[in-house]
Amino acid sequence: MTALLEVEDLRVAYGKIEAVKGISFTVESGQVVTLIGTNGAGKTTTLRTLSGLLKPSSGKITFDGKPLTGVAAHKIVALGLAHSPEGRHLFPRLTIEENLQLGAFLRKDKDGIEKDIQRVYELFPILGERRKQASGTLSGGEQQMLAMGRALMSRPKLLMLDEPSMGLSPIMMKKIMETIRELREQGTTILLVEQNAQAALTLADHAHVMEIGRIALSGTGQHLLHDESVRKAYLGED
Ligand code: ATP
Repeated sequence: MTALLEVEDLRVAYGKIEAVKGISFTVESGQVVTLIGTNGAGKTTTLRTLSGLLKPSSGKITFDGKPLTGVAAHKIVALGLAHSPEGRHLFPRLTIEENLQLGAFLRKDKDGIEKDIQRVYELFPILGERRKQASGTLSGGEQQMLAMGRALMSRPKLLMLDEPSMGLSPIMMKKIMETIRELREQGTTILLVEQNAQAALTLADHAHVMEIGRIALSGTGQHLLHDESVRKAYLGED
């Protein structure tokens, strides 16, 4: 089986600083793959490169059988790769519903868009209840839900989530993680970046630990969850 996403020896630099130093990994259809690692390991840089916001200095990205290198960000969305970024980047003055509609900006199928908005409201009922509310007035957890919902509105083949649990209360975090599990059960393929290694590894089919721009360790989520070095470095054990 060919992978939905294939990243080969990817390097990305900010000027002279190389943030991603030759990483390779794949995401198969239907999988949840996670990148974990401390601050500054290069996880966000990797996602931003995959969605065309940063240009790699070298390496190869293949998505759904097509090369992504050099393809503009909006075309990458059209190919089926959606990104729910760190910090969310919603339009604060627009309502929940308007933000969701913007997530479908490349689509013309009005009925399908309406159906998918309803699907987001089923996943996150609170968004449905507040559909006319400006997104800037939502709590952090609600904004995170909206960012995920907006990314889903492009009907992606691959959904990339950057730190969906950041800054959330334990209850909200649990809700977000449950939703990721639900999305996977519905067949959505997900590339998840998380600081919360425990939650990410519990969910993931496959996981990679990034350390200063490199992949230091890879394995199934369960394998890494029980790996002694991972437990010490990322799960707060002595
Ligand atoms: P975090 O969880 O803090 O976002 P991360 O693993 O996602 O961590 P990146 O944000 O990808 O890490 O950062 C990787 C490295 O690149 C870091 O050393 C960071 O300081 C550097 N970096 C990130 N963005 C820029 C930028 N715009 N200009 C220069 N250096 C940057």
